[in-house]
Amino acid sequence: MNAEIIAVGSELLTPFRTDTNSLYLTDQLNQLGVEVVFKSVVGDDLKHLVAAAQHALFRSGIIILTGGLGPTEDDLTREAVAEALGIPLHREAEVLAAIEHRFASRGWKMSPNNAKQADILEGATVLPNANGTAPGQWLSGKVEGREHIVILLPGPPHELKALFESECRERLRAKLPPAYIATRVLKVAMLGESHVDARVAPIYKQYCDVQTTILAGAGEIELHFKSRRATMDAAQACVDEVADAVEDELGDAVYSRDGQSLEQIVGYWLQMRGATVAVAESCTGGLLAERITSISGSSRYFVGGAVVYSNALKSELAGVPADMIARHGAVSREVAAALAEGIRYRCEATLGLGITGVAGPTGGTATKPVGLVYHGLASDSGTEVIERNFPGDRKRIRRFASTLALDMVRKKLM
Ligand code: ATP
Ligand code: MG
Repeated sequence: MNAEIIAVGSELLTPFRTDTNSLYLTDQLNQLGVEVVFKSVVGDDLKHLVAAAQHALFRSGIIILTGGLGPTEDDLTREAVAEALGIPLHREAEVLAAIEHRFASRGWKMSPNNAKQADILEGATVLPNANGTAPGQWLSGKVEGREHIVILLPGPPHELKALFESECRERLRAKLPPAYIATRVLKVAMLGESHVDARVAPIYKQYCDVQTTILAGAGEIELHFKSRRATMDAAQACVDEVADAVEDELGDAVYSRDGQSLEQIVGYWLQMRGATVAVAESCTGGLLAERITSISGSSRYFVGGAVVYSNALKSELAGVPADMIARHGAVSREVAAALAEGIRYRCEATLGLGITGVAGPTGGTATKPVGLVYHGLASDSGTEVIERNFPGDRKRIRRFASTLALDMVRKKLM
C-alpha cells in the first residue's frame, strides 16, 4: 500500500508557516515500509478539500489528513472527508462528553462551536487526543472495491506526533505486510551536481529497485539510496550494493558514507592524526570557525583564529606583510598563503587555513570578479593554495569557500 498526505490549513499556504507534519509522517510511514507517493497542502476551503480527498482516494491506499479538526468555521476536514467518501457524520455523545470534561477540568466553559469536534465519520474509530480537544479518526474499509485507510489527525505537531505514536503506528503495522525500507547516504564535496550524476547514473540505473535521489548544496552533494524489501537485511544489502559501487566510482570525493557532516569528518581526521587547526578568515567572516566549532568536542583540535577583514588586521593578527598586500592585493594567492602560514605560526597549530576572496555582490573588478576566492592551507610540508570562482550570491559563495577549506583539511589528513 502506498500513502498520501494532505496537510490542511490556509496558513500553510502563506510564507509564514511550513507543513512539517508531513515530514514527520513520511519518516514514520517509511519506517513501516510504506512509501509516500503524493503530498498536498490545501487551504481551508470545502470544495478544494473534497476534491483533494477524492483524488487521494483514487490514487492511494493510505490517506492521512492533518489539521482542520479544530472548532472553528474554517476547520472543515471532517466535513470534506465525509463528502468525499459519501458517508455521514454523527455527533458522538461520548466524545462530546470527553471534550466537555476537558474544559470543565480546567474550570472553563465549553463554547458551543467546540461540539463539532465530536462529529465522527460513520464507522470510524475515535483516536483519543490527550493533548488537545479534537480527537483523531481512523477509518478503514473498501472504497470502490479497493482497501483504504483514511486517518484524520490534528494539526498542532505535538498533538499529531503523540496521536500517531499512541494510536496509529501499531494499527498500521497490523494492516501491512512486513516491509522494511533501508537508506544509505553518501556525501560528496566540491564536485558539480551534473558531473557527479553523469558519473554515477550509469551505476545506479542498473538497480531499478533502489530509489536514488541527489540533493545539491553549495559545494556539497548528497546521494540518497532507498530500498524496500520484505526483511531489513535484504533492504540493507540492496542499498549497500549500489552505494558501494557509487563510492568506488567517486573515490576520495566521497567524504561521508553514513550520514556524517563534513565538519564531523574533518574533526574525526584531525583527532585521528593528533593535529590541530587555526583559521584566518577574510571573506567568510568567521563562518569557517563557526562550522568547525559546531561539533561538540572541537576544542580538542580547533585552536582558534581571527577574522581579518581589514588589511591592517591581516598584517597585525596573521603577520601578512603590508607590502605583499600592496603589491598583490588582499585577494590574492600570496595573501591566502601568508594568512594560512601566519595564523598557523601565531596559534602554534599543526595546520593553518587562510581564506580571502570577493563575496560580492559589490567589490568585484574585471581581474578580481565576485566569487573569486583563494584558500590557503599551511602545514609542516609547505603551503597549498586553491583558487576558485564560485557562482551564486554572497551567502552561497561564503558557504562554498568554507566547504572547500574544510575539504582541503580532510584531503590533507586522509
Ligand atoms: P486546533 O484544534 O488546534 O484548531 P486543528 O486540527 O484544527 O487543531 P489547525 O488549526 O489546522 O489544526 O492547526 C493548528 C496549529 O498547528 C497551527 O499553529 C498550525 O500552524 C499548526 N499546523 C497545522 N498543520 C500543520 C502542518 N502540516 N505542519 C506544521 N504545523 C501545522
Ligand atoms: Mg484549527
